[in-house]
Amino acid sequence: MFSRRTRQQKDDSLRCSFCHKSQDVVGKLISSPSDYPRAYICNECIAVCGSILDEERADAAEPADSAARHPLLDHPLASELIARVEAWVRAESLGQDGLDELVRLRKTAKSMMAGR
Ligand SMILES: [Zn+2]
Repeated sequence: MFSRRTRQQKDDSLRCSFCHKSQDVVGKLISSPSDYPRAYICNECIAVCGSILDEERADAAEPADSAARHPLLDHPLASELIARVEAWVRAESLGQDGLDELVRLRKTAKSMMAGR
């Protein structure tokens, strides 16, 4: 018969509840604020959790920043062009003559294409 009993019973050092490393091998072991259930987490697992949260935050932030935003929208005349388009569409949909708005719209678009 082998006797692992003595060794295991002696090993009452605190362990990380996530990776089960003992407090002797990790840099820092942080305990839960309450006893029920008492849990521990080591600095290595905290670092892993932190990087997971950072990745999720980056994933969530990316579509709004890069994918949805067309580079042309950063043009200084972009908001003016959009306003002209809206004015023209409004005039046309109300059955008015949208020619004046269309002329202004084309002027704005031309300025944008000229890079001014
Ligand atoms: Zn751990």
